[in-house]
Amino acid sequence: MTAATKVNLLDFDREGLRALFARIGEKPFRADQVMKWIYHHHVDDFGQMTDLGKALRGKLADIAEIAPAATLLDKHSVDGTRKWLLGMDGGNAVETVYIPEPTRGTLCVSSQVGCGLNCRFCSTATQGFNRNLAASEIIGQVWVAAKALGNQPHQQRRITNVVMMGMGEPLLNFDNVVRAMNVMRDDLGFGLANKRVTLSTAGLVPLIDRLSEVCDVSLAVSLHAPNDELRTELVPLNKRYPIAELLAACARYAAKRPRTSITFEYTMMRDVNDSPELARQLVKLMRRLPAKVNLIPFNPFPGTGYRRSEPDVIAAFQKILLEAGVLTMLRRTRGDDIDAACGQLKGQVLDRTRRQAEFRKRIEEATAHAA
Ligand code: SAH
Repeated sequence: MTAATKVNLLDFDREGLRALFARIGEKPFRADQVMKWIYHHHVDDFGQMTDLGKALRGKLADIAEIAPAATLLDKHSVDGTRKWLLGMDGGNAVETVYIPEPTRGTLCVSSQVGCGLNCRFCSTATQGFNRNLAASEIIGQVWVAAKALGNQPHQQRRITNVVMMGMGEPLLNFDNVVRAMNVMRDDLGFGLANKRVTLSTAGLVPLIDRLSEVCDVSLAVSLHAPNDELRTELVPLNKRYPIAELLAACARYAAKRPRTSITFEYTMMRDVNDSPELARQLVKLMRRLPAKVNLIPFNPFPGTGYRRSEPDVIAAFQKILLEAGVLTMLRRTRGDDIDAACGQLKGQVLDRTRRQAEFRKRIEEATAHAA
């Protein structure tokens, strides 16, 4: 193999890495050792993997590399939030955000360069869709953050939770996202508990079902409206998978994972979806499921026509849900001084228009395949 065809070991989960090692005549435990070097010690140089023989180190260096995306920017917010802009090929870039809290540290990870779903209130949507991230580019975000934060999965855990809530629709990059989530949850990887890895989706029904078959992670659903008319306006995907179908898929997902609930994200937009009447409609939907509601105050971005709901309106909305017995949290806005809050991520998406048609085709293929 030449240098140009080196495989990036960040593209493999444990199973894949063991298979690769088998192909080069090495035992599975060698793959396990390498995984530990990569994800527990953030080593990207085979020369430093001291428990491998010299010959194996040389063989690996010939055919493989450990190559995370380059960090273009590393921004710190006054509230402790940190955001990395990671450069991809062709001038594209994606963003990853770390949100520290007293009892946990959450990393918000991107799955695509841009997004093609066109949710009306999301900054990523204004960028259009460019391409799916490779598994190495997804797990590489965790790797870069973990290294920068001095994360040690089994001693000093800085990253306790990962949410696939950055740029892109993770279910439309299914295989790569699943592979990356496998590494997040592997003891030899980042060692996170299943429930501490959350995939957030705008609601691709067949792919929610497919996810429940292959991967045991927490599910979050971007609902934002309790009736089809309003939801279709905000999340155009709703036309294809209306609320009843979406909630039925959520019920199927929850049925497979007893004792865990599904999180419904609801971005609060002034005079759009924040009335008491809509709160009551939402109560009716949530009562049928093991559900948690996460209210997100709308985060503005240049060019948006939406505004954030007033704090007292959000409080009244939350009260209606709580009094009806629906567990409802208010997501605190973090990192908006560095444009790291929900819906503000845009990275850098070049050459997007030519890809829109390709994106639509991909939705067709992905959902047809799963159905
Ligand atoms: N495509 C996936 C992953 C994105 S998650 C999904 O839709 O779930 C990002 C979350 O932030 C989603 O719930 C999204 O709807 C929400 N969001 C998008 N724009 C926002 C904004 N401007 N303010 C607050 N939340 C926003």
